[in-house]
Amino acid sequence: MGDFPAEPYRIKSVEAIKLITREEREKSIREAKYNIFKVKAEDIYLDFLTDSGTSAMSDNQWAGIMTGDESYAGCRNYFHFEETVKSITGFKQIIPVHQGRAGEHLLFSSILKPGDKVPSNTHFDTTHANIQFQGAEPVDILIEEGLHSEGQYPFKGNVDLNKLEAFIKKVGPEKIPIGMITVTNNSGGGQPVSLENIKQVSKLYHKYGIPFFIDACRYAENCYFIKMREEGQGDRSVKEIAREMFSYADGCTMSAKKDGLANIGGFIGLNDEAWHKKITTKLILIEGFRTYGGLAGRDLEAIARGLLEALDEDYLAHRIGQIKSFGELLASVGVPIVQPTGGHAVFVDAGAFLPDIPRKDFPGWGLTVALYREGGIRAVEIGTVMFGAKDEKGNDIFPPMELVRLAVPRRVYTESHFKYVAKVFSRIAENKKSVRGLKITYQPELLRHFTSEFKEI
Ligand SMILES: *Cc1c(COP(=O)(O)O)cnc(C)c1O
Repeated sequence: MGDFPAEPYRIKSVEAIKLITREEREKSIREAKYNIFKVKAEDIYLDFLTDSGTSAMSDNQWAGIMTGDESYAGCRNYFHFEETVKSITGFKQIIPVHQGRAGEHLLFSSILKPGDKVPSNTHFDTTHANIQFQGAEPVDILIEEGLHSEGQYPFKGNVDLNKLEAFIKKVGPEKIPIGMITVTNNSGGGQPVSLENIKQVSKLYHKYGIPFFIDACRYAENCYFIKMREEGQGDRSVKEIAREMFSYADGCTMSAKKDGLANIGGFIGLNDEAWHKKITTKLILIEGFRTYGGLAGRDLEAIARGLLEALDEDYLAHRIGQIKSFGELLASVGVPIVQPTGGHAVFVDAGAFLPDIPRKDFPGWGLTVALYREGGIRAVEIGTVMFGAKDEKGNDIFPPMELVRLAVPRRVYTESHFKYVAKVFSRIAENKKSVRGLKITYQPELLRHFTSEFKEI
């Protein structure tokens, strides 16, 4: 239990963080109207809001920053970036963008029409919204095992192949300009997809003439799970596995804020010249010239170096091991979590942890407030505030689970930080009555979790 792997790096530069007093935290969360998104980052002690763009860069990446060539066209860092991405993915054209969603917007606005459908295991929220923004429909076709928090199935991110084929036949392949898969499955708990499933999904799309794209944000973590869990893969390098995985696809979108170990950036990978032309025209309109795509030369260098570091297997063993140990530690103090832990976060089943708070009073949200109040910790609710809705009669429609996600930034926190989180959870567990339900006092029409305001019951 809680047997954390030793870090394969040492600390050369530090950033101060501070636990402000209980009174100050009380004031801060009250002024934020009990919405943790509105608390100033400086008033947070440990921040598990997201693993996106929050990685610690290495000395090697920072050294790369100084070699930034800021020429408008054809900067040397672009060529290093392009060569690196090609060596990992094998795609013919690599288009830099300032972050993942810019790539999604460029791709979807170039190929989707109103009424089109885009299947995947589970679309991430920006992908989902970017598809809808074109008048098309995102469709999630995940295996049954992936829909439950219990059970140790090793690849809970897999696509249900029978349901996918039935879906393609039902709507017709001409309505599906692109099919996708997300690795690891972020919205589904960071659960991996097997190499075999990716191969079969690719075969199926191609049987119907549908181009297949990978949402590759956490491809390195996914390929490490393949190496550890899939039969016959244990002796291959993660890079070899990644190369095979990408060989089944016609392209990818990627946020370098995840497995690029960078604070900003992303890319689109492609093999189709017609799509490449369309996207490049728009790229210049929205993001920038073809060789920088909304990024500075120094960012491209940091990404090129970060991508290779994220494939280092000592790094990956530590990364995945740290998340696993964090999950075990929380479970050992009586916190119910989604099993098995995925690649980038631990998901707490807040509904099971706080059974006395009715779902309409947002137990997950209440837990995020309690974690901040008790320990200056920031986590994010993935439950009724984020995904709940009302039917025509005004009755609540609840999502399947009331979760709180603790996403772990890469190379940032150490074992003692995680032990601190477990201690805070223990204190909350001893005094569950102190966790309060909430009522919404203000909410916008869309994406209400970011800006809603609350009062405690
Ligand atoms: C983060 C993420 C995106 C969007 O990338 P940004 O860089 O945040 O715009 C898309 N898909 C998945 C699976 C992600 O995790």
